[in-house]
Amino acid sequence: MPTDLTRATAAALADALATKTISSVEVTQAHLDRIAAVDGQVHAYLHVDSEGALAQARAIDERRGAGESLSTLAGVPIAVKDVMTTKGLPTTCGSKILEGWIPPYDATVVTKLREAGLPILGKTNMDEFAMGSSTEHSAYGPSRNPWDLERIPGGSGGGSSSVLASFQAPLATGTDTGGSIRQPAAVTATVGTKPTYGGVSRYGLVALASSLDQAGPCGRTVLDTALLHAVMGGHDPMDSTSIDAPVPPVVEAARAADVRGMRVGVVKELGGTGYQPGVRARFDESVALLEELGAEVVEVSCPNFDYALAAYYLILPSEASSNLAKFDAMRYGLRVLPDGVDDPSAEQVMAATRDAGFGPEVKRRIILGTYALSSGYYDAYYGSAQKVRALIAEDFANAYEKVDVLVSPTAPTTAFKLGDKLEDPMAMYLNDIATIPANLAGVPGMSIPSGLADEDGLPAGIQILAPATKDERLYSVGAALEAALLDRWGGPILDRAPELGGVAAAKGA
Ligand code: GLN
Repeated sequence: MPTDLTRATAAALADALATKTISSVEVTQAHLDRIAAVDGQVHAYLHVDSEGALAQARAIDERRGAGESLSTLAGVPIAVKDVMTTKGLPTTCGSKILEGWIPPYDATVVTKLREAGLPILGKTNMDEFAMGSSTEHSAYGPSRNPWDLERIPGGSGGGSSSVLASFQAPLATGTDTGGSIRQPAAVTATVGTKPTYGGVSRYGLVALASSLDQAGPCGRTVLDTALLHAVMGGHDPMDSTSIDAPVPPVVEAARAADVRGMRVGVVKELGGTGYQPGVRARFDESVALLEELGAEVVEVSCPNFDYALAAYYLILPSEASSNLAKFDAMRYGLRVLPDGVDDPSAEQVMAATRDAGFGPEVKRRIILGTYALSSGYYDAYYGSAQKVRALIAEDFANAYEKVDVLVSPTAPTTAFKLGDKLEDPMAMYLNDIATIPANLAGVPGMSIPSGLADEDGLPAGIQILAPATKDERLYSVGAALEAALLDRWGGPILDRAPELGGVAAAKGA
């Protein structure tokens, strides 16, 4: 156990808590101190709930003291993405339109965290309504990448990834509609899983695109991520798309860390042009390591993946335009009265509120989606996109006849500079070129760090994909590769990130 509790893995904290070597109050306080010291620079949290977290920690310590048997992660604190409703705690989804809204209920994922005894440190920053790859679309300002504060921590879940990479929480939650768990993990040298669609409840998640959204676990190691996956996952009668089956054996797989005899397919279409050389190099090295570990590696072609991005940017805005219709100035948060209108109509209030409350990216997608769904265009756009979606699912099915898992780089580049892609939506969208196919097909995916790119010394990620409901395979491959990379780099890749506390102290923060 490191003397600084914020540097410990969730698994190590859980063990020390179970043997009463440390208390949950100590662990929680250590993280709250760390937040106070560094979040001024990182801006990973939108809301910190010190009192609530310490109260939960005290309750867990008391229950443990009374000899109650508790769940594995009981007492380990966590950060929650602000897309998940939290009873009594603000939930803004990174939008002005939800400013001041205090949900009257918990998302099922949050209920599960509370029941398992994980103190909730606070809510993490995100692109508005989870639209983006950088957190720059947050109405509350961007989060920063702890590797370089002038760079993006990925998005939309950049708050959760930067919380982990700056040791402000040992665990965090995310949601992944097109890559928002995996891409932030890749650019910060952390780990994130998008489970099989339906594997984790969507009840209480502010919906972006309901057929693509999936909540999942974020951690600094594969085992930590598996432990959290086991807590978050499982059937929920409140979500009609939830899978009625036990959570796949993710923790066992992470502990076994065995890839011997596994068939690994390198996706031909996810690589090559557009991918940064250093990202490619770390990917090729990881694939070679998998082969050394006893996996059988082959190349697999998924020809329709070339159309995934185009299909996604029709299906997502279509569903989003419908989901966001509920922000009507009557039910939640913000209400703006139109200027210079006496006795405005409901429609005028709605228009003024949506104009003031939604940012430019959200408006862009509502307009795109409304257009794609309008009569006369529905078949040409939305209908065609749905056909492409079926073809992509077929590509996966064909691939999984030959291999057990697929691999690719997670994101085409390392973290870019804040502002670099903000004015160019297409450039921003291209960040998810490798992650989107999994959402369209509903299959699970994970990103783990693959090393640092030679050109810029920044983290790169490798993505592992598995067939639906076979999430445990991600953890077998992820944990085996993580161990091999630990040897290759002489320790966790994240240990090479600059020490923010030091920077804060030097600046007198
Ligand atoms: N970056 C993608 C988008 O902007 C993915 C978002 C997500 O997964 N929530 O749509």
